[in-house]
Amino acid sequence: MILIINCGSSSLKYQLYRPDLSKVEATGMVARIGEPEGYVEHYVGRRGEHTRRKIPDHRAAFAMMMENLLSPEYNVIGCPKAITAIGHRAVHGGSVFFGSVLVDDQVMDALRDCSAFAPLHNPCNIVGIEEAQRLFPGTPNVVVFDTAFHQTIPAKAHLYALPYEFCARNGIRRYGFHGTSCRYVSRSAADILNRPLESLSMVVCHLGNGVTIDAVKGGRSVDTSIGFGTFGGVPMGTRAGDFDPAVIFHMVRELGLSLDEVETMCYRQSGLLGLSGLSNDMRVIQEAAEQGNDRCKLALEVFVYQIRKTIGAYAAAMGGLDALIFTAGIGENSASVRSMICENLEFLGVEIDARTNAIARNGHPNISSASARVATLVVPTDEERMIAIDTVQLTSREADASMEYGTAAQ
Ligand code: ADP
Repeated sequence: MILIINCGSSSLKYQLYRPDLSKVEATGMVARIGEPEGYVEHYVGRRGEHTRRKIPDHRAAFAMMMENLLSPEYNVIGCPKAITAIGHRAVHGGSVFFGSVLVDDQVMDALRDCSAFAPLHNPCNIVGIEEAQRLFPGTPNVVVFDTAFHQTIPAKAHLYALPYEFCARNGIRRYGFHGTSCRYVSRSAADILNRPLESLSMVVCHLGNGVTIDAVKGGRSVDTSIGFGTFGGVPMGTRAGDFDPAVIFHMVRELGLSLDEVETMCYRQSGLLGLSGLSNDMRVIQEAAEQGNDRCKLALEVFVYQIRKTIGAYAAAMGGLDALIFTAGIGENSASVRSMICENLEFLGVEIDARTNAIARNGHPNISSASARVATLVVPTDEERMIAIDTVQLTSREADASMEYGTAAQ
């Protein structure tokens, strides 16, 4: 069995795949780590349970995952040896990792070096790998980086116009995030269109709590909206997106805010939440906007406008557009947000069909109208599956060549 672990800042999510990835045998989550009351859930098919327990730290979360996986009640695995490979999600691979890698001591050292770029996330990812090494001795571990897919972005797009040597010395540049999701859906999209990935210029809109707009040309990321940290680009649930950095100098010098306060504001109190004053949840914003809440209408307008503007910019950057892809919580589920974004993009060749847009989730990924020059698709993301594919490919030479992105049964 292949175990996939996503050890985030306050949660540990896991999925257990059959070795040929034909089925997910078990899924689970240990959430609210370090809070007074945590949450544990474990599912095997439709059978499962959720409980509330205190989870002091990530090591305790890992122990709970083990308990669930080894539980005789669910009979998923009899012993740790049943796990033949483990895949881990890591947020930041700096400029060191261009792709997924098998874990060894050197990789762990490099991963620790990258922690300065993602202080909330990388240390938790590292604990997940260390625990896996301890509790599954001899089992190979693979690490898949959110940033790796964007390492192909050329210098003209990843450099900031700050002093060159200073930035080079200190690793200051655009890194990008959600790379595993963008890689998965861009390959899935090529499959759906039955066209070679190498021939396609796409814009991927990963619209979840975090938002990435990504330009993917010939299967390679060539520009992406998030930058050095995780709040650049378009507004997100609680993160600001791009704004003039002079605002920060003003907040600190003239308004007396501390840097910590500014950081909290930019990451946790901005975006849809900051604009609406109500929520970071798109469903809540849309409902309130429909009932006439002006601030929610405004939040939606800003969100949609910035995304549409970025799509246009990336079409220009790539010299054309063949496909526009929507994915993640908002991208997959909100027909009205998709429709608002695509409004006024006819000049690019984007035209969507209202009927197929409304039923896109039910096996109708292509929502373009018959006259559209650009294919607009709704493609469910599956980062865990992408990690599982990399894990199998890196750990088994005999990996079944037919195992492809999203085409095997779920
Ligand atoms: P994360 O980045 O945490 O993985 P998700 O991809 O799960 O986030 O996306 C969460 C976002 O998706 C939330 O803003 C949520 O409101 C939105 N969302 C989920 N379902 C719907 C829906 N049916 N309509 C509109 N928005 C939705």
